[in-house]
Amino acid sequence: MIRVGVLGAAGRMGREVCRAVAAADDLVLAAGVDPHHRGERVGDLEVAGALDALASAGAEVAVDFTRPDAVMGNARWCLDHGIHVVIGTTGIGSQDLEELAGLTGGGRPNAIVAPNFAIGAVLMMRFAEEAARLFDAAEVVELHHDAKADAPSGTALATARRIAAAREGAWRAPAGDRSYPGARGADVEGVRVHAVRLPGLLAHQEVVFGGPGQVLVIRHDATDRTAFIPGVLLALRAVRERPGLTVGLEALLSR
Ligand code: NAP
Repeated sequence: MIRVGVLGAAGRMGREVCRAVAAADDLVLAAGVDPHHRGERVGDLEVAGALDALASAGAEVAVDFTRPDAVMGNARWCLDHGIHVVIGTTGIGSQDLEELAGLTGGGRPNAIVAPNFAIGAVLMMRFAEEAARLFDAAEVVELHHDAKADAPSGTALATARRIAAAREGAWRAPAGDRSYPGARGADVEGVRVHAVRLPGLLAHQEVVFGGPGQVLVIRHDATDRTAFIPGVLLALRAVRERPGLTVGLEALLSR
């Protein structure tokens, strides 16, 4: 049995994760932390207000679905207290990854960071990387609910970076947004990324490739937060056995 603590337990993802952990035969929902929601109930769990609750509940693994400005502080605390971490919160930058790599492994606890735990999104990124070898011209359109804190999404950034790395040529997207700055999206390593925020959406992404006489669209839609749960459970079960820092769900899926 793995004792799990959930950070951001009262949030939208946190509640789903608490439900899934409580229902799993090999996992125990040991604690949930969410400072502004202390005392609230998530199923049978009473939400705690401070990280100490993880240590007192004997959590071996913590999973973080909080906010970009909270996640690194939580991760440092867990790793300093001998607790492995699984991070789903987006907005983790390359400096943060470097820091996490330094804080993990070598007898210290481990970390898994995945900007997207949905298997379909992992495949979308893999297929986009493949297409980028044959189509240089590509743009990413990500669409999310209006309460999302960061833009572009972690998945869009990861996709753009993988496309940039896989490109054979040096196609430069035309700018052309002098009258309305921003109309052409953000430039992520030469790949234009467009972020749409609307009520009614959850998490969606299109990667659009263009070439002479043809267009290829690779699209993924997460229509419910349960899409992320199998990937989160896989990471919770794997993190104790993966020394150091693991980035991306794909590493856990490859045989
Ligand atoms: P949410 O509903 O706003 O939940 C976040 C929760 O964390 C809130 O209850 C928030 O409390 C709480 N929180 C804030 N600071 C905290 C801290 N220091 N310690 C513990 N809890 C804290 O957001 P969400 O939709 O669940 O998304 C959470 C994160 O996961 C976002 O970064 C999102 O992009 C990401 N996400 C990732 C995946 C993936 O597959 N990797 C999938 C979905 C979402 P307040 O209400 O007081 O702020």
